[in-house]
Amino acid sequence: MTEALEQSLLDRLGRPVRDLRVSVTDRCNFRCRYCMPREHFGAGHEFLPRTQLLSFEELARVAGVVAALGVVKVRLTGGEPLLRANLERLVSQLAQIPRLEVALTTNGSLLKRSAQALADAGLSRLTVSLDALDPEIFRRMTDADYTPGDVLEGIAAAERAGLSRIKINTVVRRGVNDSEVLPLARHFHGSGHVLRFIEYMDVGGTNDWSRRDVVTADEIVARIDSELPLERLEPSAFGEVAERHRYRSGGGEIGVIASITKPFCGNCTRLRLSSEGRLYTCLFATRGEDLRERLRSGATDAELAEFVANLWRQREDRYSELRVPERRRLPRIEMSYIGG
Ligand code: SAM
Ligand code: SF4
Ligand code: SF4
Repeated sequence: MTEALEQSLLDRLGRPVRDLRVSVTDRCNFRCRYCMPREHFGAGHEFLPRTQLLSFEELARVAGVVAALGVVKVRLTGGEPLLRANLERLVSQLAQIPRLEVALTTNGSLLKRSAQALADAGLSRLTVSLDALDPEIFRRMTDADYTPGDVLEGIAAAERAGLSRIKINTVVRRGVNDSEVLPLARHFHGSGHVLRFIEYMDVGGTNDWSRRDVVTADEIVARIDSELPLERLEPSAFGEVAERHRYRSGGGEIGVIASITKPFCGNCTRLRLSSEGRLYTCLFATRGEDLRERLRSGATDAELAEFVANLWRQREDRYSELRVPERRRLPRIEMSYIGG
């Protein structure tokens, strides 16, 4: 790919493409109420059959194509990415692509057994979701037969494997786990890891989202600041979605991801690939473009690159900045399908 194409690849709002988020499976071993509520993702739910998923070779090929267009980070997500067998093989293939950083977001429940293999394969960044330290509250959030202890053991295994500066993601729902904000902050204070609180979002159409359930980023920061004083930090890079704060006493930093109260579409540089190979230019998109068909019908790398580049050039998504009621009524893609 020519440098000229990479430099000219901006969307209609002037945003470059920098990140690829890949959902490697739509399955999950949790049923978080805010993501895959059991009423909608119960025994009768049909997940994608294996043959519909992109293979590791296909995923690595797409990553190589988009890396040549300017993507510098690929994040594996889902569903629960560690349910995909031998994921470290994919990590290893991706880690060989020049200038590409490989990241993973996981619920942490199966991390203990795979952390070392992932680190050895070349994983460079790890995000672990953890919504509560209290087992009862954890269960109310995740609706699964795992405990916060399982996740903490996964984090410890990742540390032992040499993965440092792990990010811990916590979605906050008012009246469910907001009492865990301070305990989590205390727990990770001084740990070297970065705790990030996420405002509960209206993704998908199954979680029955209401504005009343959102605890705002400002409220979260104020609660922590009252016990562990904080000061605001500058964003570390363009495309950074978390507002960063540092403990005044030392002890590291926290982040808040305020997609509801302070939307950041203006610097959203993310392209998303669903597990069956559809490309999306926004988490709230109503439709995606079929890349799998092109991959499986003999398209060359140059043709794939041109297809992705054209899609990006036409992009004008900024759902969170608009968040208009009419758009909220349109059918939307579920987070577990498109990848968080
Ligand atoms: N299963 C993995 C996990 O939970 O880390 C990866 C996929 S999950 C969809 C990615 C992230 O999206 C998680 O940190 C999760 O908490 C977040 N998430 C899911 N639904 C959300 C919602 N409605 N609002 C905000 N964040 C959400
Ligand atoms: Fe699974 Fe992650 Fe969604 Fe929870 S947030 S249901 S762990 S995909
Ligand atoms: Fe990016 Fe869409 Fe989220 Fe805006 S709403 S930050 S464009 S994914």
